Amino acid sequence: MKLKKQVTVCGAAIFCVAVFSLYLMLDRVQHDPTRHQNGGNFPRSQISVLQNRIEQLEQLLEENHEIISHIKDSVLELTANADGPPALLPYHTPNGSWVVPPEPRPSFFSISPQDCQFALGGQGQKTELQMLTVSEELPFDNVDGGVWKQGFDIPYSPHDWDSENLQVFVVPHSHNDPGWIKTFDKYYTEQTQHILNSMVPKLQEDPRRRFLWAEVSFFAKWWENINAQKRAAVRRLVGNGQLEIATGGWVMPDEANSHYFALIDQLIEGHQWLEKNLGVTPRSGWAVDPFGHSSTMPYLLRRSNLTGMLIQRVHYAVKKHFAATHSLEFMWRQTWDPDASTDIFCHMMPFYSYDVPHTCGPDPKICCQFDFKRLPGGRINCPWKVPPRAITETNVAERAALLLDQYRKKSKLFRSNVLLVPLGDDFRYDKPQEWDAQFFNYQRLFDFLNSQPDLHVQAQFGTLSDYFDALYKKTGVEPGVQPPGFPVLSGDFFSYADREDHYWTGYYTSRPFYKSLDRVLEAHLRGAEILFSLALAHTRHSGLTNQYPLSDYTLLTDARRNLGLFQHHDAITGTAKEAVVVDYGVRLLRSLVSLKQVITNAAHYLVLGDKGTYQFDPNTPFLSMDDTRLTQDALPEQTVIRIDSSPRFVVLFNPLDQERLSVVSLLINSPRIRVLSEEGQPLAVQLSAHWSSATDIVPDVYQVSVPARLPALGLSILQLHPGLDGRRTLPSSVRIHLHGRQLSVSKHEIFPVRVDEAGSSDFALSNRYMQVWFSGQTGLLKSVKRADEAQEHRLNTEFLIYGTRTSKDKSGAYLFLPDGEAKPYVPKEPPVLRVTEGPFFSEVVAYYQHMQQVVRLYNLPGVEGLSLDISSLVDIRDHVNKELALRIQTDIESEGTFFTDLNGFQIQPRRYLKKLPLQANFYPMPAMAYIQDSQSRLTLHTAQALGVSSLNNGQLEVILDRRLMQDDNRGLGQGLKDNKRTCNRFRLLLERRTTANKVQDGRPTSFPSLLSHLTSMHLNTPVMALPVAREQPGGPTLRSFQPLASSLPCDIHLLNLRTLQAEDDKLPSSETALILHRKGFDCGLEAKNLGFNCTTSQGKVALGSLFQGLNVGFLQPTSLTLLYALGSPSNSMDIHLEPMEISTFRLHLG
Ligand SMILES: [Zn+2]
Repeated sequence: MKLKKQVTVCGAAIFCVAVFSLYLMLDRVQHDPTRHQNGGNFPRSQISVLQNRIEQLEQLLEENHEIISHIKDSVLELTANADGPPALLPYHTPNGSWVVPPEPRPSFFSISPQDCQFALGGQGQKTELQMLTVSEELPFDNVDGGVWKQGFDIPYSPHDWDSENLQVFVVPHSHNDPGWIKTFDKYYTEQTQHILNSMVPKLQEDPRRRFLWAEVSFFAKWWENINAQKRAAVRRLVGNGQLEIATGGWVMPDEANSHYFALIDQLIEGHQWLEKNLGVTPRSGWAVDPFGHSSTMPYLLRRSNLTGMLIQRVHYAVKKHFAATHSLEFMWRQTWDPDASTDIFCHMMPFYSYDVPHTCGPDPKICCQFDFKRLPGGRINCPWKVPPRAITETNVAERAALLLDQYRKKSKLFRSNVLLVPLGDDFRYDKPQEWDAQFFNYQRLFDFLNSQPDLHVQAQFGTLSDYFDALYKKTGVEPGVQPPGFPVLSGDFFSYADREDHYWTGYYTSRPFYKSLDRVLEAHLRGAEILFSLALAHTRHSGLTNQYPLSDYTLLTDARRNLGLFQHHDAITGTAKEAVVVDYGVRLLRSLVSLKQVITNAAHYLVLGDKGTYQFDPNTPFLSMDDTRLTQDALPEQTVIRIDSSPRFVVLFNPLDQERLSVVSLLINSPRIRVLSEEGQPLAVQLSAHWSSATDIVPDVYQVSVPARLPALGLSILQLHPGLDGRRTLPSSVRIHLHGRQLSVSKHEIFPVRVDEAGSSDFALSNRYMQVWFSGQTGLLKSVKRADEAQEHRLNTEFLIYGTRTSKDKSGAYLFLPDGEAKPYVPKEPPVLRVTEGPFFSEVVAYYQHMQQVVRLYNLPGVEGLSLDISSLVDIRDHVNKELALRIQTDIESEGTFFTDLNGFQIQPRRYLKKLPLQANFYPMPAMAYIQDSQSRLTLHTAQALGVSSLNNGQLEVILDRRLMQDDNRGLGQGLKDNKRTCNRFRLLLERRTTANKVQDGRPTSFPSLLSHLTSMHLNTPVMALPVAREQPGGPTLRSFQPLASSLPCDIHLLNLRTLQAEDDKLPSSETALILHRKGFDCGLEAKNLGFNCTTSQGKVALGSLFQGLNVGFLQPTSLTLLYALGSPSNSMDIHLEPMEISTFRLHLG
């Protein structure tokens, strides 16, 4: 009775607050002065203002109505439960399905209408060049352009430069892949160190010489091996502008498969290294080799204060079009940018490649003659059969004229009279002779050209920034500002083709095992960074830092660098040689193990009830991790927790920055188990068998699944006690459909297994939100019916196989060259289906020869229960030249439009283009893809980057793995034959659209809903279970850890909390980088009863009081990679982020 009274009072209070806030909101709408500004004196605009205001009022009223009804629901739930059964004890209904009673706590979710405005757009400026439109309008014909095969003849008059000289910057560079044909170390030892070693004296010989370098990973390794004198010389070369470090990332990352967490992390790692060791801040971006370009990169570079960037691998037809329209240089703007604040100047290289034959001008036969490494007698020559000639007094006039003709033609493709001519290739300048050959011969050419005033040319060596600076100067603008007359572009440059129909869309999926491992490592790195920073801050707060294992910081540094290395465009892409892949795999696994140590060490300190008892002993770790991987190419295996006579404890870590309710599954050695919360409250558990195959149960291993509510970024405790709690231990039921297969099925006294020998009819699983139908024959999804709708949605999944062509060009690591449309996967034997039903989740496992697909439905309120959890364990090692696809067919009228994410950061609308071959319509999917019509949106969330398309109305299709027996002639020299057993994980979310309209759907931008964002984060940052390593009879008291004093707004994502390096590289400093991202989201999707507690705040976060028990001592907003302070340190701890923006803050926590 007392409880009931409290609940009523509490409910009434919430109701009053809601009513009051409704009043305040209405009041604000009426009195907000800014809303009067556009009124003017014209009656028509007054009417429209009035109309607007009424609409806003209606919207507010509706919002508040919803909030109040939510509160009512919650209060009802509260009252109902006050006298009812204990929390979350599920029961069976008469029809046999499980019901989990509503939780005795209100869930509250509210978005203020202002926060919905951003996704509605309207304020964004239209850009001249919209890539979506460009590709819709381009014919994509492949007309022979003469010497410039993919271009056209370029006419000019020698007098074109009479009024203003042509200014030429020749940029010597060497492209060093941190792993491709050789491993990183082998490249370093055999090639890269020689390049850098000879660079120092060769640049010193002549102050007019220049050199450009991009890969800090190699540079940092070399730095470790050179003496102080050489280091000083390098600093001088950087200081006087002879050596430019461009971009300054740890690697030149792949832009298709990489996630923005890792992109930013490797950029920070590189920039921090450069600042500390060279004292330099990169100004220009240089990306000559990534296989297509993402618009996330210009955003990240702009926010790192770079003022110009260069890209190269763009579809040849787009290059030709841009060359013809003088659009190869543009301001690159984000599609969602309302005020041009994301603009960065971008130079697109016009020709086929970044090598010397394709950089001096349109004719490779001529340009090759100016690659003096190919002088006769050398190891390489010109495939166009005309060799270079050394420049002498006798031939200089003729040679210079030939080269100038190319320069002039190339220059005609650009708007300014400044010309960029890169001079380099892969692993160039590794011998002193090559430096001499290039520098001497070019200097002679320059000297001659510059001595002839009537030629109106001024040629010199330069860096990329020298070029940009000259261009800015000529056009009369400050670096970074839009030069007058240059176009603005938005969109991205996927998918890439370098010639014919050779689309580089295979690498979106190549080696999916490692694409998945990459993301696992990423989630662990983020988790480890955050927990390490928090633990360190708390030890600082308690004066216990000297007892903490600070050596963990070097493990973090190594992991950052290994994850960074893997973002390289031959690593995460799956385009390196087999031995190199193993080298990457070993590095990733080593760092995964290290990060688990960092996490368990931090968690150990943070969960101790009495910090006075803290003692770190490296030989007897307090916590362990719940899973292990035996080798770099093995899938993880979950540890079995042994329960004997005394209780065991498990610490749960929620790396998500929102509170979550998730099912945690543990393996234990006994079915006699009682699971208690930290406070000792007994919890209901779902007990399931542990299966080693479709029909075999592993003896003496049991899966215990517990719904756990975990604080944001926090740690909770579960107690595992021996003994039986018959009321709360709820065994799953199992049904196996053998489809006539002669297999013996394990028997078990606890889990009655029903075996169905013959075929079976379709069946359904359901939870409070939906009923999901499966085919009784295939075990795959058929349809979904939402609980509140009469209509069923088709959701038919099937496996398909692509073959490759019989012609000479076949699919390989880079290219997807299918032999036509996909054919259905036909298994030799029918699948065995195993259907498990229990109180907290139910699942269907379909066992095929080449895959096992698990579709799981969680019976929980909120995010977990609202989507389908799908995992596909794929093994195609016995296939020959086949690619396996998963296709979802719906009745959504998508009409050729689909949406894919870029780097998990933003959404890019796509159009299926009939004029292009099938393979051209595939796009990278690092985080999600969706299709929609005015009623529904179906989003496929992924936990690993894969290639995706929508080839027909209502379809989404993803390539799961590819096995290809041959090279595809892009230099790798191998096929893809080292396939692994790979587990691809997805979440499928069907949402109802509430405010869809055609105008908006046609815009070049789109956003996921908040539920979709949260679903993606649940999928990508699973709960980590850390069993207390040894039995702890009467041991230390463990207490849950809640780092955040208040929840973050729903749309603010804590991307990282990254402890910065101290003066001593091996130690952490007292400064931490806090990186926040305010996500853009679409309110036009239903968001009722989502079961989570957060609101939006117009981008405001009160940092001062965010971290419980810690003080924020100092707060400095900085550029993304911390190289520039933005404004002065602020006394105010209240910060503000605009939608979509990522902001970095340097701060002291302690
Ligand atoms: Zn490369």
